[in-house]
Amino acid sequence: MIPFNKPFLTGKEAHYIYQAVYGGKLSGNGAYTRKCQRYFEEHYGFRKALMTTSCTDALEMAAILCDIKPGDEVIAPSYTFVSTVLAFVRQGARIVFCDSCKDNPDIDPDRIEALITERTRVIVPVHYAGVACDMDRIMDIARRHDLLVVEDAAQAIDSYYKGRALGSIGHLACFSFHETKNVIAGEGGLLAVNDERFVRRSEIIWEKGTNRSEFFRGEVNKYGWVDTGSSFLPSELISAFLWAQIENLDTIQTRRKEIWERYHAGLSDLAGQGCFELPVIPDYATNNAHMFYIVCRSLQERTALIAHLKQNGILSVFHYLSLHKSPFYTSHAEARPDNCQAVDTVTVTEFDGTVSDEAQVVGLDLPHCDRFADCLLRLPMYYELSDHDVDYIIDKIHSFFNA
Ligand SMILES: *Cc1c(COP(=O)(O)O)cnc(C)c1O
Repeated sequence: MIPFNKPFLTGKEAHYIYQAVYGGKLSGNGAYTRKCQRYFEEHYGFRKALMTTSCTDALEMAAILCDIKPGDEVIAPSYTFVSTVLAFVRQGARIVFCDSCKDNPDIDPDRIEALITERTRVIVPVHYAGVACDMDRIMDIARRHDLLVVEDAAQAIDSYYKGRALGSIGHLACFSFHETKNVIAGEGGLLAVNDERFVRRSEIIWEKGTNRSEFFRGEVNKYGWVDTGSSFLPSELISAFLWAQIENLDTIQTRRKEIWERYHAGLSDLAGQGCFELPVIPDYATNNAHMFYIVCRSLQERTALIAHLKQNGILSVFHYLSLHKSPFYTSHAEARPDNCQAVDTVTVTEFDGTVSDEAQVVGLDLPHCDRFADCLLRLPMYYELSDHDVDYIIDKIHSFFNA
């Protein structure tokens, strides 16, 4: 069986963990944590980088830093992972979902402004598949309406927008080192703080609401409880693991891009015949080869293709279901803006004949998001995937469409 993902080990992880263990400092904010943070600050131009236990946690820190209060509105795409909006919902925010672009799942900048009200505080662009959202346009909208921008850069390590690293453009940005991402630590994340106003407070929230970091630097002679916060910093073991990955970042990225290009070249004939769409990388964006996907013509065809690939020993997956149709959002009025209250249930008959109830928020129509939810299919993508396996997968996709 060709798995969908296989975590890649560089070989140095256990060694660095060993060093951390016997170095006598296991809690957070030690030598490896600082090495990782310095790397990200220097290579990607983040004003401040803070390691976190996950991207979800980094987003929670961002929601606290944005000072989100109950009733505040946050604009985000619906085609994304739950964590993008969950952090804001925990602070009492109402989520205003925006549709994706027609030809790529990123938030459509043409649709953002119509969603802004006097309660809007934050826009959360998600760089889907590591491909940049149109950040100049989004930052311009934010400036004109006095909003904050939090980049969900979970998939976007080492990717760029007009030459600027993703994660360095918004006021705040959040990365993931979950084992399904390009560079991993098992579970882990990073908060990038780019706006000077948030630098000091971010460290305090990170350290359980205390000014312990300032104390360790000798800036104050005792530390205590000064703000809200949580234990967002990971242990040294996580950063030691991540350091081994960072050292090999270029090697990892080079191989992933080769795999991506091989898929793209091998499938372009079928795409040309209209069997499916290939990913679109806008001129302003780079490709960090986080994922390779195709967009099928219909849910039925995608379901059949997944089954065909599985019969041939290949695991392909779809993922995000539209968040605006999720059981949580449709049943929690306090998470929605006032103008989309009415909830109805429609019955959907699946390709295989099963009937399911799908919740609908009336007044919220996001057709591009729904199309990606129904039709986007992710193919196996990991460092150790061989050219031979990629060719085999391409071949089996051909046999499906030629049948
Ligand atoms: C993976 C992912 C997350 C969550 O990352 P964790 O580190 O698992 O918390 C959030 N947003 C997006 C877009 C992701 O892909």
